[in-house]
Amino acid sequence: MRKITIIGAGQAGLQIGIGLLGAGYDVTVVSDRTGQQIHDGKVMSSQCMFGTALAHERTLNLNFWEVTCPVVEGIGFTVPDGSGGKAIDWASRLDAVGRSVDQRVKMPVWMEEFQRRGGTIVLHKATVGDLEVYARESDLVIVAAGKGEIAGLFERDARRSVYDSPQRALALTYVTGMTPRPEHSAVDFNLVPGVGEYFTFPALTTTGPCDIMVFEGVPGGPMDCWDDDITPEQHLERSLRILADHLPWEAERCKDIQLTDAGGVLAGRFAPTVRKAVAALPSGALVLGAADVVVLNDPITGQGSNNASKCAASYVASILEHGDRPFDQAFMQETFERYWDYAQYVSAWTNALLAPPPPHVLQLLGAAGGHSRIAHRFTNGFDDPRDFFHWFMDPASAEAYLAAVTT
Ligand SMILES: Cc1cc2nc3c(=O)[nH]c(=O)nc-3n(C[C@H](O)[C@H](O)[C@H](O)COP(=O)(O)OP(=O)(O)OC[C@H]3O[C@@H](n4cnc5c(N)ncnc54)[C@H](O)[C@@H]3O)c2cc1C
Repeated sequence: MRKITIIGAGQAGLQIGIGLLGAGYDVTVVSDRTGQQIHDGKVMSSQCMFGTALAHERTLNLNFWEVTCPVVEGIGFTVPDGSGGKAIDWASRLDAVGRSVDQRVKMPVWMEEFQRRGGTIVLHKATVGDLEVYARESDLVIVAAGKGEIAGLFERDARRSVYDSPQRALALTYVTGMTPRPEHSAVDFNLVPGVGEYFTFPALTTTGPCDIMVFEGVPGGPMDCWDDDITPEQHLERSLRILADHLPWEAERCKDIQLTDAGGVLAGRFAPTVRKAVAALPSGALVLGAADVVVLNDPITGQGSNNASKCAASYVASILEHGDRPFDQAFMQETFERYWDYAQYVSAWTNALLAPPPPHVLQLLGAAGGHSRIAHRFTNGFDDPRDFFHWFMDPASAEAYLAAVTT
């Protein structure tokens, strides 16, 4: 039986592990925390996932929260006009609903499920020395440790990385008591030029249904205000102040909100980075990086967990198709390139949204307000951005697309 060791019990690590167990592999997942510690800790993400990524989970019978987790039925998009009103304002429905299950809820259950299906969990923070041991004892070692320091083992790919510094100051606030949107639930995405982005959507957390507030502050701007050491209550107050200052219609929805729990807040920043997928240990043994370790995007487009799920599905398919042949450098590189064939579009779109929006993008997003076909395609592009990539990223194609739709 082929033995695979995976570092990291997150979206990618556990999904790869459970996928391989189902195909008869001997799988060990190394986690730096117990399920209970993850459950009792701070939030890590807003983890909204769309149809395709959720379908990969469903294929593995890991969709335990389809009844209890509120659905995300669409995308709403708003740009303020600078004088208290809205310059752009539309919403459209997703063809397949999205869901956000707090990773503090999901990962402990998946860890138990992984063990129930025959997997082994080893608890410690893996070092390079540990990887040497795992590489000797396993046919393949996959590092799916997210933003953990061990990702530094993988060299930054300067050709594929657009930025070398954080592009947004990030904050999360998990709350209850938010007034629902009137028509249907949605990721309510607000773009405030020069200030940043704010989006919110329903989710399931450790205390039950909630709403997640996500702040993406442009560095140095008024939404970049999370660096000091504040209490969870102060974090909530600051979240409300930002809405009152820039997004009064969102503030209106938040009159009665309360934090879900003291761990329901997060602040930080990181540079979006693509890394080389194969790392050599001091002994010369090779390990393969997965998901955030190798393609780390800013959360502005809410794609990281989606990518992790798609990366996991792609890696499992590559491993199974490889059969009994050795997991050598060529296999590892090819496995990553197959995933990158998709992920490159997500990265390019996400990186583009971090820059000030060019005129053709504002024109497209504005036109979506009057043309439901555009709004529908843009909305469903959150599930797979390849669909709109060619016209979203290129002024000439955008013009041709707009002409075709609006005449
Ligand atoms: C503010 C914010 C909002 C986000 N919102 C969204 C969203 O709405 N939608 C979306 O799709 N994505 C979102 N993301 C991104 C998403 O959370 C990540 O991309 C996704 O969790 C990556 O999965 P992963 O398996 O690669 O890594 P992770 O989920 O980070 O899992 C890695 C695991 O490895 C463990 N680990 C680390 N180092 C070691 C070690 N040395 N030994 C053992 N274990 C180790 C970690 O503790 C962790 O449990 C957001 C991220 C942030 C920061």
